[in-house]
Amino acid sequence: MIKTRIAPSPTGNLHIGTARTALFNYLYAKNQQGIFVIRIEDTDTVRSTQESERDIIEGLEWLGLIPDEGVSTSGELGNLGPYRQSQRTSFYQPYLEQLIESGDAYWCNLTELELETLKQEAIDKQEQFVLRSPYRDQKIIPNENSVIRFKVPDTTIFFEDKIKGRIEFDTSLLGDFVIAKNLTYPLYNFVVVIDDELMQISHIIRGDDHIANTPKQILINQALGFSRKQFAHLPLILAPDKSKMSKRFGATSIKEYKDQGYLPEALINFLCLLGWNEGNDREYYSLGEMIEKFSLKRVQKSGAIFNIQKLDSINAHYIKNLSHSRQIELGTEYLVKNGFDLSRWTQEQLIKIINVEIQRIKKFADIGIELSFLWEYPSYDVTILAYKNMNKDDIKASLEWSLRLLYTIETVETDTIESIIKQSIQEDNKQMGEILWPLRVALSGKEKSPSPFEIISILGKEQSIDRIQKALNILI
Ligand code: GLU
Repeated sequence: MIKTRIAPSPTGNLHIGTARTALFNYLYAKNQQGIFVIRIEDTDTVRSTQESERDIIEGLEWLGLIPDEGVSTSGELGNLGPYRQSQRTSFYQPYLEQLIESGDAYWCNLTELELETLKQEAIDKQEQFVLRSPYRDQKIIPNENSVIRFKVPDTTIFFEDKIKGRIEFDTSLLGDFVIAKNLTYPLYNFVVVIDDELMQISHIIRGDDHIANTPKQILINQALGFSRKQFAHLPLILAPDKSKMSKRFGATSIKEYKDQGYLPEALINFLCLLGWNEGNDREYYSLGEMIEKFSLKRVQKSGAIFNIQKLDSINAHYIKNLSHSRQIELGTEYLVKNGFDLSRWTQEQLIKIINVEIQRIKKFADIGIELSFLWEYPSYDVTILAYKNMNKDDIKASLEWSLRLLYTIETVETDTIESIIKQSIQEDNKQMGEILWPLRVALSGKEKSPSPFEIISILGKEQSIDRIQKALNILI
């Protein structure tokens, strides 16, 4: 049975890198009819918080990455828990004792000063410092300063990484590392091995920043006689300039994306393409399609470049494809967040505003921002009313023509308004630009805005006439 896991440390909000690792674990497990586990690695009691744990679990669930086992918003799922390391302390001690007993680990009393001296000696001899503690072959009675180290054997470790290929480590370069501060305070590289075994994890899929930990974990795993695990190390998400992804290039927490009105289906689609492709240029995948197509073989080996324009274009696609009722629901929510006063508009107008914006916005947080002229009519420079080199008289004539026409229009339907105006332009032998540009600017006060037909449709006849009149007044 394939079993994967995501093992976040709850020391901050759900990071996009963690979300992508979770997604790949989820997809791999589901593609193989396997099980996806969420375990919380909260051994760092100082930095771990409950809010962070909640944010991580809720964030993953919001993305649709529902665990089969592990912690969830509805409690714990599965019977190999608890799934928080802080609640598993009693599980670890027997294995520490086993390693000490077998001689694979030992109590070490080296002081900081002694360690420093050994390091200095290596530097003086221009050698790489690799700790082989003088305590490694002794059995001492520990005191309160003792730590437990793993006795690294001289050997070569290799594994077939499912993404990077064969990876080899020469352990003569690996010092005897600390696996626990004492019998009740085990450290990351040790607990992770115990948990992966007890939770029957078959595949460890994680960021390639963990590659250096893998030989340590393989050594512990072997010493305890546990089953061999498969590894797959994912390329890190990099900023466009290939540096480490940081806030400078876009939000790093999933919550921020959620708050900005990115849709979960767009985000997972985007995250999936950060380091994986099907072998073609296909851009849109539902979660079900990703599960069907996903394979570790097609995960790229080196860094995946984060491109916010790509996320925006994927999100715009999903926004356009949302059900109309959801567009209205989210659109209203974000318009209000952006200061839109619902009480001043009819439901019909609200729907029209949202319909116009849905075609344009990349994320819901952008909604209404460029339409604020609808509720706050801006003051503008008369020169922007001119199309090409129209003079004041030309603009006046143009706006008066529009005004006369508008009085006769009885509908508020965008398409009908458009066809009436365009037809009249043709019949009167006018140019499109000489009529539509001044009309649009008079209505919006802006050089760039939706079409005059859409604006008239939203504002209604009375307000539109009022705005054209205002423009004519400032022309005098
Ligand atoms: N707790 C580790 C982290 O948050 C993950 C460890 C692992 O995947 O083995 O980076």
